[in-house]
This record gives sequence, structure tokens and C-alpha cells, in this order.
Amino acid sequence: MKEFDCRTAGSPCHAAVTATDDRDLQQQISAHLKAVHGIEPNETLMSYLVSTSRDSAAREKGGA
Ligand SMILES: [Zn+2]
Repeated sequence: MKEFDCRTAGSPCHAAVTATDDRDLQQQISAHLKAVHGIEPNETLMSYLVSTSRDSAAREKGGA
């Protein structure tokens, strides 16, 4: 699982997004940026935002 927190990217927004993989994460971040921030993310912004996300796989013990 991937976790993205809008605050980590320097936004005052407290929204958090969780996704199953990088592609899902990018889609969810993109949807969030458009819906909440009115931003259409470009590739540079998106790769930066994805780089601020955390990989929470290490915490999933025995999960499906
Ligand atoms: Zn946000």
C-alpha cells in the first residue's frame, strides 16, 4: 500500500490518500488535486508528489 499525505507535499490540506500501487496512487492524487485544489498536475508535479508518499507495505503483516 502507498500512502500520500497532502501536508507532506507542503499543502495546508490535510487530506490523505491510500492506494494499492504507484499507478493507483497517481490516479488518486490527480483526482484529489483536480477536485480539491483545482490543479491539473503535470508530470513533474506528479512525480514529486509520488516521491513524498510512504510505502506502508512493511506494516502489513499477513494481510491479503
Ligand atoms: Zn490536498
